[in-house]
Amino acid sequence: MIQKKYMYNDIRLIFIILLFILVIILFKISAKLIKNRKNRLIKEKKEDILKFLYNQAEKNQETNFEKIQLFSKLKPEKLMKIINILLKERKIKYDKENIKLTNDGVKEAQEIIEKHRKIEKYLFESTSVKIEEIHSIAEKEEHSNKLNIELANTYQCIDPHGDVIKGQGVHSFSILKLTQNLDNTNKIFKIIHIEDEPREIYSKIVQLDIAPFDYIKIKEINTNSIKIITNRGQLIEIDFILAGNIFIVEEENKNEEIEILFNEIEENFDLISTLDKLKINQKAKILGLSFYIRGEEKRRLLELGFVRNSLVEPLYNNMLGDDPRVYKIKNTAIALRKEQAQKIYVQKLN
Ligand SMILES: [Zn+2]
Repeated sequence: MIQKKYMYNDIRLIFIILLFILVIILFKISAKLIKNRKNRLIKEKKEDILKFLYNQAEKNQETNFEKIQLFSKLKPEKLMKIINILLKERKIKYDKENIKLTNDGVKEAQEIIEKHRKIEKYLFESTSVKIEEIHSIAEKEEHSNKLNIELANTYQCIDPHGDVIKGQGVHSFSILKLTQNLDNTNKIFKIIHIEDEPREIYSKIVQLDIAPFDYIKIKEINTNSIKIITNRGQLIEIDFILAGNIFIVEEENKNEEIEILFNEIEENFDLISTLDKLKINQKAKILGLSFYIRGEEKRRLLELGFVRNSLVEPLYNNMLGDDPRVYKIKNTAIALRKEQAQKIYVQKLN
């Protein structure tokens, strides 16, 4: 009886000790998780501040503590802590009341921006993520240490502005700036960057099918909008809010090929359309594909022969209507959905 009682006590003691050990382990694990999370958040904030300072410098704007606070939405004490870390790491320095990047800070900011663009390029080319969502995903993923993406180098970057930063000495400005000078009508410019924030405005620009690498010719400058023709023959009216987010360059040397192209487009303006609008058996030549036809879909269309100057002809509708439709290209018949055909620009032939 007594023995049994002692044994019972022993088991209870062992159980309590085990429970105690378990609590300590759990406590340590959660403390570590909290610490990791805190470190990650600090890293993200640090990187965002470096990027912000870099962009401010690009715009030739001074940045003080208040401006950084407004941007980061951190409490002053917390921001002060992060500023102190960055000062210690010699990524930033004070210049009177302003805060500036050091050379090391500039380098790190450029690395983050490059990573951001790499992620965007990858999402653009190799996934079907909605174009308006690409930027916000990149904003999160750019802070990750475990970034390992395969990039196909065959296609251009979604945002060529990144290459400009590395210093080709090209000075870009927004289309809006053209409104200051009426002499800009009939001048040709190249789109070099489209601001992907705020999302609503970016989405509108995408819907108009205005894209990086497009050439545009200014046709009319009005009080609230600008009319442009693109190198695929679209006439588009853009209001000033959008025009402020589309960045262009004026090419230093005269680009004769592009000038001939625009002359041809303007001469044949009434014949230009998108593929979905052609009548059955209306022959046409291809002017180009939308930039927003991406990845696998783009590769497939190019392989089939949907390239500039190829001949194309709608052969017949399907039994239920005009979506999808069958087209003849390079002696092959191929079915395309309306949504695809809307993004293929053509010039009717007689
Ligand atoms: Zn972006």
